[in-house]
Amino acid sequence: MNNTFLLSTLLITTLSIVGCQHYAKSTQKDAVSSTCHFNDVNFDTQFPAARLDKCEQTGKNRYKLTLQPENMPINDSPWYAFSVSGKFSHTIHIDMHVEGGSNRYHPKIRVDQESKQSNWQKIPFKRHGEVMTFDLDINQQPTLIAGQEIITNDDYDNWYTALKNNGQLDIITLGQSVNKRPIKAIIQRHNAKQWLVVLGRQHPPEITGALALFPFTETLLADTPQARHFRTQYNVLVIPNLNPDGVQLGNWRHNANGVDLNRDWKAFKQPETQAVHQYLNQLVKEGHSIAYAVDFHSTRKDIFYTMPHTYPIKNPMLTTQWLEQLDQQMPSFQVIQKPGNNPNKGVFKQYISDTYRVHAVTYEMGDNTNREKIKTIAHTAANTLMNTLLQTSEAP
Ligand SMILES: [Zn+2]
Repeated sequence: MNNTFLLSTLLITTLSIVGCQHYAKSTQKDAVSSTCHFNDVNFDTQFPAARLDKCEQTGKNRYKLTLQPENMPINDSPWYAFSVSGKFSHTIHIDMHVEGGSNRYHPKIRVDQESKQSNWQKIPFKRHGEVMTFDLDINQQPTLIAGQEIITNDDYDNWYTALKNNGQLDIITLGQSVNKRPIKAIIQRHNAKQWLVVLGRQHPPEITGALALFPFTETLLADTPQARHFRTQYNVLVIPNLNPDGVQLGNWRHNANGVDLNRDWKAFKQPETQAVHQYLNQLVKEGHSIAYAVDFHSTRKDIFYTMPHTYPIKNPMLTTQWLEQLDQQMPSFQVIQKPGNNPNKGVFKQYISDTYRVHAVTYEMGDNTNREKIKTIAHTAANTLMNTLLQTSEAP
């Protein structure tokens, strides 16, 4: 142990407050997290998607954790992910504070850390005004705590590998993020000239949207009669993870330039949106067409933001027909459709409709929607969308 380490330990212990994140005002770089180290307890953020901004010991076995956004203004989505260990087994009390927002994601703990199949369980918590409190039983083994299941950039790469092993498709790189991470896309194309576009993870903490995108995509790419037939008529382009820097940094919402990507589909100032825009334009130049787009997000409830059927786009009733089919096939799920038209906001859905004159939907899953239900909805949503699109393209 060298003197620098001793000095910093002493300082930390004396001040009992540690800032875990230091970031530049302009571009966020990687590896901004450090350790919140106390006498008996360590909060660690040295892993992808980790986030914990300030830690403070406020009493015996009591710790105040504070979350801060990457920059302001920002939508309310305070993400956290950290591991915690103790010098000995004991219970600690956590008071979770948020600056620049309010607590949104309910705490979860990862169990079965030895097995590859990770499993997250809810932790009981209470709210005292703006503060969320919960207890943790800790020991020398690090315990992983997060606001939702952690899905890292590596998890996407592992998924691409598994998909490739299962069927014929290509994984291509559309461009690079601010911090030079690849923006990857799954492509399944045969002789069709029209494309279904699927987008995900513009907003890193919106995990239930990601949990829906996986089965939705797998259903489109499946070796079923319907999906095989669909792919003779439509090519599929899936960009599951548009904001890999935000995912790595554990950002609330923005990319590494501090920009909300889902407000940049008009200005195209960010490399992530530019990469997709250029690829779609290239397809159109080659004589192909964009037929439909779905963009996955999370919010407080399950809802589909759609374009109004009065909007001047192809097949004005298409989305309504799809969502009515979904509603009929899932009696236990109430499909809520909310049409909207925001020409100047820079939202992906609007960009698709205004640029390619076709429908696009923002597919939102609730933060607390049952995970098995998310899968069932996504599977049925993909099947009913394929059915609707096939009926459209085969209509006389
Ligand atoms: Zn979102």
